Amino acid sequence: MPTDSYEIVILGTGPAGLQAAIHAARAKVSVLVLGRGPKSSLFRAHVENFCCLSKVAGQDLLEEGRRQAEASGAGFLEEDVVETASQDGWYTVKMESGREIRCRALILAMGISRNTLGVPGEKELLGKGVSYCVDCDAGFYKGETVAVAGCESAAVTGALTLMFYASEVHLVCPQLAVSDALADKLRQSDIRLHEGRKVKEIRGETAVKELVLDDGSLLPVAGVFIEQGAKGAIELAATLGVALDPEKFQYVVVDEKQATNLPGVYAAGDICGPPWQVAKAVGEGCVAGLEAAGYVKKLR
Ligand SMILES: Cc1cc2nc3c(=O)[nH]c(=O)nc-3n(C[C@H](O)[C@H](O)[C@H](O)COP(=O)(O)OP(=O)(O)OC[C@H]3O[C@@H](n4cnc5c(N)ncnc54)[C@H](O)[C@@H]3O)c2cc1C
Repeated sequence: MPTDSYEIVILGTGPAGLQAAIHAARAKVSVLVLGRGPKSSLFRAHVENFCCLSKVAGQDLLEEGRRQAEASGAGFLEEDVVETASQDGWYTVKMESGREIRCRALILAMGISRNTLGVPGEKELLGKGVSYCVDCDAGFYKGETVAVAGCESAAVTGALTLMFYASEVHLVCPQLAVSDALADKLRQSDIRLHEGRKVKEIRGETAVKELVLDDGSLLPVAGVFIEQGAKGAIELAATLGVALDPEKFQYVVVDEKQATNLPGVYAAGDICGPPWQVAKAVGEGCVAGLEAAGYVKKLR
């Protein structure tokens, strides 16, 4: 097989892509993984809820995962894919550099792009009180005052979850956009709703200390959860013809084998929808890797 052809190409070097690479390469098919490690959601995370590892830095997990995948025989290219196409039973991916790679099967593991607030302090204090994941980080705020920024169901359900941990929960929301039932639940709770307000700035030296709202008022908090909803990194999938969830077109639809509607195209991890967790990503990556390997072996 020429060097620009692989049996399987995996888009994404996060936990889903790495686990898929480990299982596929160990099944003795040729595997190339594309993407940049530091762009994984896991890169800056500190994980405490992944089975068998009580506390681990995301970056360490990613580095070890890549070593395992390479030792299993997978190749890596630190490039983003800009185009995907299919022709005559082959898939083609085009990278930023213009280089093209052909493959028989594709595994989409590009994660999600989180909708950020884009306010001063957000980037600087990420992981130091700024979080995009209530399920991951709520436990760090036992007895503290926290805020959620967002107006949709993710924000309201996130705030309700935080009520089990934090002593005080604020919801800062320009215009509530949830079902009546959820709005009722919110109003019956002790969550302090700042409707009609926006977060203008997140302040703190080494950790989040306070939020500046758009009316100039200050909200002292130990943490702020940005829950603007999540957009799947799915444009590449969509242009290839991969089916997306019919409600919001944010996630790739897969069956129990992680197969999409296209033959030989599998997906795993955050791109398939919530919960956005490492445990789910590696589980789905394992299934996708094994299934894709089985698929390409039948084509030999
Ligand atoms: C701050 C933070 C804390 C978190 N804490 C926890 C936690 O405690 N526990 C937990 O279980 N989960 C946690 N998570 C969630 C966890 O990191 C994700 O669920 C997990 O990383 C998803 O894995 P993935 O492989 O699907 O996607 P990602 O890890 O996001 O990887 C996506 C990969 O796709 C690549 N990619 C994207 N576009 C392209 C393209 N066009 N071409 C090629 N490659 C592309 C990226 O470069 C990246 O390598 C946290 C997330 C964040 C942001």
